[in-house]
Amino acid sequence: MDNFQYIDSQLHCELVAVRDIVEKTGTPTYIYSQTTLLTHFDRIAGAFAPLNPLICYSIKSCGNLAILRALQARGSGFDVVSGGELFRALKAEADGKMIVFAGVGKTDQEINEALDARIGWFNIESEEEFWNLDRLAGSQKLTAQGALRVNPDVSSVGTHQKTLTGKKETKFGVDIDRAEAFYIQASAAKHARLSALHLHIGSPIKSTQPYVDAITKALALIDRLAARNIHIDTLDIGGGFAAFYEGNEAPSAADYAAAIIPLLKDRKLRIILEPGRSISCNAGILVTRVQYSKQGGSKKFTIVDAAMNDLIRPTLYESYHFIWPVDVSGCSAPDNRQSTLRTAGDEKVDIVGPVCESGDYLAKDRYLPTTKRGDLLAVFSAGAYGFAMSSQYNARPRAAEVLVDGKTWRIIRRRETYDDLIAPEL
Ligand SMILES: *Cc1c(COP(=O)(O)O)cnc(C)c1O
Repeated sequence: MDNFQYIDSQLHCELVAVRDIVEKTGTPTYIYSQTTLLTHFDRIAGAFAPLNPLICYSIKSCGNLAILRALQARGSGFDVVSGGELFRALKAEADGKMIVFAGVGKTDQEINEALDARIGWFNIESEEEFWNLDRLAGSQKLTAQGALRVNPDVSSVGTHQKTLTGKKETKFGVDIDRAEAFYIQASAAKHARLSALHLHIGSPIKSTQPYVDAITKALALIDRLAARNIHIDTLDIGGGFAAFYEGNEAPSAADYAAAIIPLLKDRKLRIILEPGRSISCNAGILVTRVQYSKQGGSKKFTIVDAAMNDLIRPTLYESYHFIWPVDVSGCSAPDNRQSTLRTAGDEKVDIVGPVCESGDYLAKDRYLPTTKRGDLLAVFSAGAYGFAMSSQYNARPRAAEVLVDGKTWRIIRRRETYDDLIAPEL
């Protein structure tokens, strides 16, 4: 599932010992494997090849320029959700035509920036937004392409409430019942063409059925529209493919493709995919150092130098990340990454950070080999929504980011300094 493995009792990213990297960079540090990143991209591209899709990597999952450049060079387009992400995509030399722009609240400024960049599609989330796009495109004498984000009202088991978006009552998109009338009204627009349909039902979607349900509903809508002489040429099926946190819980790219391709292969539709997590998640780890251990009532706490500001997923989504020592000379290398893993002499701990919140934890009630002050721990499957969601809360400079490629590695974002914390303040 990734290129993080133990060699001679030391965790390696590809061929580089994690310990050697953090000796230079300090901790906490995010370390990404370029091979893993590109392998996951290639798997999706390969599995969906019969549909010849445009793959628009979702920048919000992990948006460092070096990551974007590597994916761009591999043939990826980009899914952006803000003017800032559009700026990142353009800095990574993305082709505007291969950019899709989603988001319920695009400002005039953001829309104008995207028009200037001649992006491929605006994912339209409301009637009002569509007419605003038509107006702004008109004032620049341009034509813009819209993809209506349709809310197919499907459910997905095991997707967290905060990241489930395919139900009727979400802020995203428009109800499928209303979509038909919307397309008909939109056909009167002069500068914005609503010729595409967008779905994004949430993340992660841990089975293939919600995609099948959503695409089936979308195709029925496309057929109803065709009968009314409205032609949809592009279907964007969004992101949300699952990644591997425990190692065995998610369908593979090939599984998703096997379920989805039969629905679409005889349709003359341009297909867009917007994977984020399924490309970046397994490509990254967060490395942190044990500061102290202590007892609190019946609990044992392992206090580390990474915190909720570095990785908020455990406390925000109750999400699971496998955590294990970087050096296993005193214990054993893990033979899997499941929450049930036990080893001789392990102990149950809460792994917590230094931030002043009781919600500041990376793991609760977790069995770990005994650790001591100074030991390094790796938090696995942290590439997606890890650094990207980090903040400076508690005036903590953000972590460094490192990219490994084979035997070589480089810092792709230096650790922030105290001066970085106050630089924009007047
Ligand atoms: C977040 C998001 C994605 C990516 O989701 P993943 O689960 O990371 O694949 C794709 N499209 C849209 C519109 C999104 O908001």
